[in-house]
Amino acid sequence: MQASAFASSHPEQDAAAIAYEAPDAAAVASPAQLRGSEDYVLFVCATLGEVCEQNEANWIRLNGDHDPTANITLQLQTGPLDERLWDVLDEATYQTIAALASRGTGLTPEIEYWVDAGQSEGYWQAERPSRQQIRLPIIVHEASPLWIGADPSTSVVGLDYRPHGVRNVYVTGGALFPTSGSWNPTLTMCGLAQDLADRLG
Ligand SMILES: Cc1cc2nc3c(=O)[nH]c(=O)nc-3n(C[C@H](O)[C@H](O)[C@H](O)COP(=O)(O)OP(=O)(O)OC[C@H]3O[C@@H](n4cnc5c(N)ncnc54)[C@H](O)[C@@H]3O)c2cc1C
Repeated sequence: MQASAFASSHPEQDAAAIAYEAPDAAAVASPAQLRGSEDYVLFVCATLGEVCEQNEANWIRLNGDHDPTANITLQLQTGPLDERLWDVLDEATYQTIAALASRGTGLTPEIEYWVDAGQSEGYWQAERPSRQQIRLPIIVHEASPLWIGADPSTSVVGLDYRPHGVRNVYVTGGALFPTSGSWNPTLTMCGLAQDLADRLG
């Protein structure tokens, strides 16, 4: 979970600094949220889970396209485990907000939640918003089609970055991750690429 806290007495003046200092686009308080919130602390939470690998409805297949950069199709659907995880993530997010807002006092904090009304506008309410309000039906950081491992019977690419049984081909990047992990995978990919470059050099 990524949690960012914002407090601004002059949202219009602070807008540029907020955009620079927020850790990423998913963690920015919007102008509509900041406007009228001068006496509040705003928490922006983005919570990410990993899609279960054991779901036969999910696959990646060659699709016959002649363009080799577009010749695979990915199907990804949530299964029962993903749905359960999503519920847990929602609850964990609410509990985290409550813990942050109570500052460890154990007292029940007064929290208001943002409800998106479209067109960059919305309003605050005391009740938790609906699932549709808080869930984004998107996937990010897709990875792992060519996962790495020592054993050819349980992995695609070996620890030497070559597909098992194939010589003179090297693979690096997010495809190698044995499992997708969570936020911001790029530095790990850079580490793998650097390690491969060192070995080849
Ligand atoms: C909008 C967006 C925002 C993101 N934000 C972040 C972030 O803030 N932090 C973070 O860590 N990560 C972020 N990511 C994720 C990160 O960018 C990717 O996980 C990462 O770039 C994947 O690197 P890769 O080298 O594994 O694959 P890619 O960057 O996808 O590289 C694969 C390359 O292979 C080429 N290719 C494919 N098929 C073929 C073929 N048959 N023949 C030859 N070439 C082929 C493709 O054209 C591509 O150049 C973001 C991704 C997106 C889309």
